[in-house]
Amino acid sequence: MNGQGIQALDERYIAHTYARAPFVIERGEGLMVYDSEGKGYLDFVSGIAVNALGYGDPDVLQAIQDQASRLIHISNLYCTAPQALLGEKLVGASGFADKVYLCNSGAEAVEAAIKFSRKFAVQAGQPQRTEFLAFDNGFHGRTMGALALTPRAHYQDPFRPLMPGAKFAPFNNLEAAEALLDVNTCACIVEPVQGEGGVNLADGRFLQGLRQICTERGILLVFDEIQCGLGRTGALWAHQPYGVVPDIMTLAKPLGGGLPIGAALLNADVAAVVQPGDHGSTFAANPVICAVAQVVLEKISQPAFLAAVESNGEYLGARLQELKQKFADIVEIRGRGLIWGIECSDDVAPIVSAAYTAGLLTCKAGTNVLRLLPPLVVDRPAIDKAVGIIGECMSRVRG
Ligand SMILES: *Cc1c(COP(=O)(O)O)cnc(C)c1O
Repeated sequence: MNGQGIQALDERYIAHTYARAPFVIERGEGLMVYDSEGKGYLDFVSGIAVNALGYGDPDVLQAIQDQASRLIHISNLYCTAPQALLGEKLVGASGFADKVYLCNSGAEAVEAAIKFSRKFAVQAGQPQRTEFLAFDNGFHGRTMGALALTPRAHYQDPFRPLMPGAKFAPFNNLEAAEALLDVNTCACIVEPVQGEGGVNLADGRFLQGLRQICTERGILLVFDEIQCGLGRTGALWAHQPYGVVPDIMTLAKPLGGGLPIGAALLNADVAAVVQPGDHGSTFAANPVICAVAQVVLEKISQPAFLAAVESNGEYLGARLQELKQKFADIVEIRGRGLIWGIECSDDVAPIVSAAYTAGLLTCKAGTNVLRLLPPLVVDRPAIDKAVGIIGECMSRVRG
């Protein structure tokens, strides 16, 4: 079937929750994906920060093959070696956690963080702590709990009433947050680098201040590193350069090498309140995904791998600053490592479309920010090519 036939079937049979690009992706290789007509695209989206190792990483493929032929799924009534070993590796790499709860997605990791925070408050004899503080332009997912902490009218309004008790402060405004963190607050959730909300970096004073206030007031601090974690910023964890640790950290996107997995890492105090029956999932963390996730974590945590992300990220940032000199339309370039946003004075949808035509995948973060999330294995020639295409598209679209 050709691309148009597939698009017609998709339009007819798949619920319309996504605005689709005007082509059908068939396969990927390295930094490239190819559509049904054989056209290649340099991928600067990576399945939205999922395909950190690009397409067809041989170690990922080997892990899938080996484990799939042994055991694909078994209930969480039973323990398996891949899951136990992944737990050991995640906890060891985290620098703060004592245990991990494994699930299937980012939103599920956030739901787990919400539930375990609530249980923690109850066990601490403070059942009145039911409220959560999150931040403007944050994104934590689309299930009912996570959605309640994702303050975008377009996402929330059709689905009210949401989980009660969500409060919001402006990102990077410590004083506003401090005023809302009180005896009724259960947890504060924040992305050290906001992804969907426009690639916004937390200030040091903000993150460090949140840590201090939460500790003083008996409130849990949750870092949502689903997008910015696991090497994306050039450090294994986005919060590392800030010198503070959370009580709970959520992970997902790149962890499974493209297979679905989420994780909520818990410090010892939180882990201590979690008991059988508190939470669970049929599919969560099957042996195949856990085998792959070990490979992904192992590869990404290599110092040489992270150093390459950092230096290629600096290079990408410098090339984007050059672009800013050329186009009055660009308001600001923001980013770190291999997550970058180009904030423009207008909707960037026409640039995303023009880039499709030119053979480059990019995506939006909000309306006016063009977001770049290349595979973490990207190289300088690919960066040059992508920046060149973005520049051409900007000239064409903005004149
Ligand atoms: C993508 C994302 C989520 C939600 O993850 P899903 O796997 O889509 O449910 C949550 N938080 C952040 C920061 C994200 O980027």
